[in-house]
Amino acid sequence: MKKKQKCAYPGCDETQNGTWALVPLCKNHLTEIRAETAMHYRKSIRYHEREHYLKIAVRIPWSQVNMGVYD
Ligand SMILES: [Zn+2]
Repeated sequence: MKKKQKCAYPGCDETQNGTWALVPLCKNHLTEIRAETAMHYRKSIRYHEREHYLKIAVRIPWSQVNMGVYD
């Protein structure tokens, strides 16, 4: 049995409840990121306004942050 990972959100100490873009997140942060992503797709917020997403984007290999779009 694999030991459960911790949530990858900075400053969060909760146990992982699932993954979002392969990044382990706790239940609360999964909910927040999903809500934020839905807002983004409805064009309520722009890419750089995705506060929660950008906090974990460094952990997502294909994110624009790691592609060098943002310095
Ligand atoms: Zn968390």
